[in-house]
Amino acid sequence: MFDKQLQLGEDETLLALQKAWADALVTLQEMVSKPSFESWIKTALPVRMQANAAVIGTHSSFAKHWIESKHGEDIAEILTKHFGFDVKLKIEVIEQTEPPIMAEKLPAKPKPQTNLSDEAVFQPLNTRYSFDNFVVGPTNRLAHACAAAVADEPGRTYNPLFIYGGAGLGKTHLMHAVGLAAGGIRPDFRVVYVSGEQFTYHYVTSLREHRTAEFRRRYRNVDLWLVDDIQFLMGKERTEEEFFHTFNEIYETGKQIVLTSDRPPRDLDLDTRLRSRFECGMLTDISPPDLETRMAILQSKAESERVLLSDEVILYVAQLITTNIRQLEGALVRLHAYASLMKTEVTASLAQEVLGDYYLQNAPVVIDVSKIVDEVAGRFGVEPTDIKGKSRTKDIVACRQVAMYLTRTLTDTSLPAIGKAFGGKDHSTVLHACRKVEERLNKDRAFAAQVDELSRRLQTER
Ligand code: ADP
Ligand code: MG
Repeated sequence: MFDKQLQLGEDETLLALQKAWADALVTLQEMVSKPSFESWIKTALPVRMQANAAVIGTHSSFAKHWIESKHGEDIAEILTKHFGFDVKLKIEVIEQTEPPIMAEKLPAKPKPQTNLSDEAVFQPLNTRYSFDNFVVGPTNRLAHACAAAVADEPGRTYNPLFIYGGAGLGKTHLMHAVGLAAGGIRPDFRVVYVSGEQFTYHYVTSLREHRTAEFRRRYRNVDLWLVDDIQFLMGKERTEEEFFHTFNEIYETGKQIVLTSDRPPRDLDLDTRLRSRFECGMLTDISPPDLETRMAILQSKAESERVLLSDEVILYVAQLITTNIRQLEGALVRLHAYASLMKTEVTASLAQEVLGDYYLQNAPVVIDVSKIVDEVAGRFGVEPTDIKGKSRTKDIVACRQVAMYLTRTLTDTSLPAIGKAFGGKDHSTVLHACRKVEERLNKDRAFAAQVDELSRRLQTER
């Protein structure tokens, strides 16, 4: 199993690891909660292959510990599957290639009295999440305009700014963009970005370690406070209380706060005082992008990743994935990885081959007569052609009645159309069949279990 790897040079093994990691990201994104994915996994980097260990770098020992303890095994399993040999995971804390924005701005202010630096505690802003990289369309125009206004004049225009909307629609991106833009032009401007999940974790840890004073120093001395996915605070009473005080202190000193959530304030199960504070600011939502915007986003991502995509491919992908921009990006990563592994161009048919099945999982299950007939025939050991034919043998008739009944209950095929599909019967025969089956369902429990099982399989299998 080592041979496969030893044959490759160092650059090639790194490239292979990068591809494996890209694939792993797509899977992990679906396994891990969004805030954790954004904070700890997406910021990690493939570093090198070392014998059969994949070395992944993180920016803090906290991230290292988090990944190791929570998802170490999952990741090793994904990489093992990808490489086809047993891969161990090794996580190292690495130097950051791009210094976090906050770190640059910090020296002018007194550092909190602690042995942990801000960079070790807070997640840095992602420089890719800039306004320049954000494609504006009808469904995010207002959110974008508010974010830009806040970045221009923090604490003056819309405070707090509250952005809400579904997963993968650009809330975190816009929030980072505000931080990058506002912090970028103001020396000594302290930006703190934190997710609801991290805030909770920090607070709970500070309670446990009797370091709440330090916690407060760290949190209340900010110029721009970005709190992502605040719905995470729901149901955590003490954290919510602490959040309320932090919020007030920052807000009352005229500093800017930006919040995101997967739902509007009125649907957040939080203290009404907090909800009304949110509602006093600017509320704006982001909804799923239209086709043109999805195409523009793909185009822009492809350009920045230097992937060549024809208009045909862009249209195919934009039509396939409609509700989540993160999935759009995931599709691009997959396509790119496959095309470079296979050393071929990305064509529409490759896109269909690579993505079709994967995203079909999101599509509703299609149930039609032929699927029902096959399933019933398989279950009772008869031929599908008999069920659809004219045979009057008792067993076949019983199977045909079950198939008619399932067609009637699981599809919206009309009675005459059902009759036609089953050997040219008329609609009263179909009604009669359905009644027969229903009578037996009420009397015969074994039969009811069989029909129930068939119905469940038809509704879940593709
Ligand atoms: P959310 O926080 O709403 O779940 P994110 O901000 O994490 O979504 O966005 C998911 C991905 O989609 C990110 O990689 C982001 O860069 C990208 N994205 C979202 N909206 C846009 C947009 N309008 N233009 C370009 N990229 C976008
Ligand atoms: Mg987000």
